[in-house]
Amino acid sequence: MTDVAKRGGAPVPAGWTYAPAPESTDIVRLQERYGLYVGGEWLETKEHFTTVAPRDESPLAEVAQASAKDVKNAVAVARDASAAWAALPGSERAKYLFRIARILAERSREFAVLESLNGGKPIKESRDVDLPLAAGHFFYYAGWADKLEYAFPNRTPKPLGVAGQIIPWNFPLLMLAWKIAPALAAGNTVVLKPAETTPLTALLFCDVVRQAELPPGVVNIVTGDGRTGAALVDADVDKIAFTGSTEVGKAIQRRLAGTGKKLTLELGGKAANIVFDDCALDQAVEGIVNGIYFNQGHVCCAGSRLFVQESIYEPVVDKLKKRMATLRVGDPLDKNTDVGAINSRMQLEKIEELVAAGKDEGAEIYQPPCVLPERGYWFAPTVFTNVAQSYRIAQEEIFGPVLSVLTFRTPEEAVEKANNTPYGLSAGVWTEKGSRILWMAERLRAGVVWANTFNRFDPTSPFGGYKESGFGREGGLHGMEPYVELT
Ligand code: NDP
Repeated sequence: MTDVAKRGGAPVPAGWTYAPAPESTDIVRLQERYGLYVGGEWLETKEHFTTVAPRDESPLAEVAQASAKDVKNAVAVARDASAAWAALPGSERAKYLFRIARILAERSREFAVLESLNGGKPIKESRDVDLPLAAGHFFYYAGWADKLEYAFPNRTPKPLGVAGQIIPWNFPLLMLAWKIAPALAAGNTVVLKPAETTPLTALLFCDVVRQAELPPGVVNIVTGDGRTGAALVDADVDKIAFTGSTEVGKAIQRRLAGTGKKLTLELGGKAANIVFDDCALDQAVEGIVNGIYFNQGHVCCAGSRLFVQESIYEPVVDKLKKRMATLRVGDPLDKNTDVGAINSRMQLEKIEELVAAGKDEGAEIYQPPCVLPERGYWFAPTVFTNVAQSYRIAQEEIFGPVLSVLTFRTPEEAVEKANNTPYGLSAGVWTEKGSRILWMAERLRAGVVWANTFNRFDPTSPFGGYKESGFGREGGLHGMEPYVELT
């Protein structure tokens, strides 16, 4: 008899509670107001906006709203710096990147606290996932900087010049690292725009750049809203790297058509997490939970569509609901928290709208009992059963802690249903048969297919999508290619 069975089905003994375990915010020193980081200096702007903590909507700092003129200036500064940076021997560029990686590792607690404060994600995720991976990306690409001729044998790689980089709010520092590390290693300079709701770790990164004594103008950070991003797309850059919504990605692609500027797009997803009846069930349930509730489901590759083989539908849903009841939702800065705050009011409204659509269309909703804080932006972990393929919750990216459960009978049916989406970023397969994993991976139209795990990342491994999930790869050697011209 299992422990759970002995306890009469209750996932944890009644009466167990967690004492608060708040991470101190003392390590973070915020300025009242931030300018733009251009040419190694802080530049003032006319307009500012307030960035808040999603856990309680308290204001954290005033941040500069860069105008088109400010962006143009930042790109010109990056252009001036690019010839000298490109001319450095790769081994010298590598030293700077190694320095950045080491400083990020040394200051990881400060960055993790700030990331959770500004973005709402649980501190255990910022601390154990975002920061080690961000530092890891700099370490990894530092290693390639002096080996470009081996990376592209029989070809001559040359930097492109200035890269414009636009990133979203779900992994603010990690997306910065994904973008800046390969660009710099290949000899480009960059102008990066963080998301409007999460600019603070990118602004703290400017201090790392200063500490690493990177030549002025190699990394420039311009903050602002979508208008700033649009201005960067139109500026005199050689390449745009964008991560965000499919809608904005399509607009950027239209804008760049015929300009000769290179483009990579990492867009939305609606990943299928496929569970076969021969899988290790408890392990799969952990993978399902990690696949959708990690980072409140604000993950482009989140396993938001669960496909369960019909014969094990009931035990899977039963175990899943029990496991969901143990998830701790609350203060992102509490070390016990599993599900933190929703990133912004706008995102919360979008989740609420899609969940209402799911109910209207006839799906059955389950949310474990949990007390949500009164202030801030919160959404309880949610699962929908009785979902049809055509429902909006099975088709559209919700980008929140909301899972839709569907069923299948045969592997062929699983593939067909999994591929029935405009997206193609990731997928998961749970089975004990290696041959079935390979059979599925061959047929799933997704950039990444995880087997008996989910949401695993490594700097050496390329990541990217098919169809409306975008094109181009980030991470690994593939992630270097978009930043070089090969002759
Ligand atoms: P956006 O695509 O609007 O944001 C991504 C980045 O692009 C942000 O820095 C944003 O700036 C900037 N941006 C906005 N408009 C333009 C423009 N016209 N030209 C250039 N850059 C622009 O995503 P949202 O934040 O609005 O999120 C909307 C939805 O997108 C989410 O609900 C989710 O479904 C999806 N999404 C997917 C992500 C992924 O990783 N695949 C990441 C984030 C969102 P600013 O933030 O200041 O507006």
